[in-house]
Amino acid sequence: MPMKLATTRAPKVGFVSLGCPKALVDSERIITRLRSEGYQIAPDYDGADVVVVNTCGFLDSAKAESLEAIGEAMAKNGRVIVTGCMGVEEGRIRAAHPGVLAVTGPHQYEQVVNAVHDAVPPLHDPFVDLVPPEGLHLTPRHYAYLKISEGCNNRCSFCIIPSLRGDLASRPANHVMTEAERLVKAGVKELLVISQDTSAYGLDIKYAETPWKGQPLKARFLDLCQALGELGAWVRLHYVYPYPHVDDVIPLMAEGKILPYLDIPFQHASPSVLKAMRRPAHQEKTAARIAAWRKICPDLAIRSTFIVGFPGETDADFEFLLQWLKEARINRAGCFKYEAVEGAVANALPGAVPDAVKEERWHRFMAAQQTVSASLLAEKVGRIIPVLIDEIDDEGAIGRSQWDAPEIDGAVYLDGETDLAPGDIVNVRITDADETDLVGELV
Ligand code: SF4
Repeated sequence: MPMKLATTRAPKVGFVSLGCPKALVDSERIITRLRSEGYQIAPDYDGADVVVVNTCGFLDSAKAESLEAIGEAMAKNGRVIVTGCMGVEEGRIRAAHPGVLAVTGPHQYEQVVNAVHDAVPPLHDPFVDLVPPEGLHLTPRHYAYLKISEGCNNRCSFCIIPSLRGDLASRPANHVMTEAERLVKAGVKELLVISQDTSAYGLDIKYAETPWKGQPLKARFLDLCQALGELGAWVRLHYVYPYPHVDDVIPLMAEGKILPYLDIPFQHASPSVLKAMRRPAHQEKTAARIAAWRKICPDLAIRSTFIVGFPGETDADFEFLLQWLKEARINRAGCFKYEAVEGAVANALPGAVPDAVKEERWHRFMAAQQTVSASLLAEKVGRIIPVLIDEIDDEGAIGRSQWDAPEIDGAVYLDGETDLAPGDIVNVRITDADETDLVGELV
């Protein structure tokens, strides 16, 4: 049993959140719960009674980073609870850091909170129990991630997320909408819809209807997008797969109900590589689909991620990918050099690609992508567009267009506009562009 600390002041919990936006949402839930019980969040290790480290266990490099973060928290504080994706490898964590107080896995909110109770019990004080009704968010107040489901029914050969997080488990539609509405009422201007597979939403619960605003609302991708589009905030869709029913949401984008933006992690374009990756919807003719979507919604921006150097990827496969990238005109793309993930099926595939070849392909991919991105951004010069302001510094305001998600895409720079505030949405004439960002002036 870990030693309990008794305190006469509000106990303080330090929080280290590693990994993807989905892990960030988990951290927000844990923090919201702890704050509702009167815990305070310590800004540094010294002031914390206990530190929670929310780990990422996706790639081996992420695991190494997680172990390092646990080590740093142990050295600087010494009372550490580990949670998140790497928590499923308790033996490895305890071998490296035997002194951790508790180890829990992803989404084990109850267990994490119980471990915190064990380490430092909550104080019962009605004044510190208060939390804003929208919960507490680690992102700036004007945008928030909205998680619509956990887990995944796909079995991509390079991925261990289903074994870490389980099969798809969708939230009821009215739970999602209640959270979204609260966020918007609290001042959130942009909702970022996330999950492992957003377009599969509701499949596991047979698209169950729940009451919302006096009407039944189906837990279905299109129905949820329609309902979210009524809230008056920007709605951005992440982690969508190109299943045929994705076509149905493109008119909502053309009508301005949801943002003309789709984050589709294609990972590759060559049919043989996609097959080896066991990607969902890998038989879809995606370049033609994107072209058809852009006929309906010319402003549609596609963001994606790709893997180069997957086992068996030939020169011809890679050239196919580069051609596809240019043809599909992908607005934003991240690229990873394939890395084996412990426990992934892909590790057993033949045809390992040498590191030097991966490196060369990565550079060629990024150069091709920058050319596509620069030409798409150059087309925006002269247009007047809405821009959501993210931050103000000495030189002016920095915001984002509807085509850019926070953290991962580009920015719109407004030189000299220091009187704006984060969360403002302003009309901007675009005056210049490079391969990543836009420059504009207020109109
Ligand atoms: S869709 Fe594939 S890569 Fe994404 S979480 Fe599911 S199995 Fe992993």
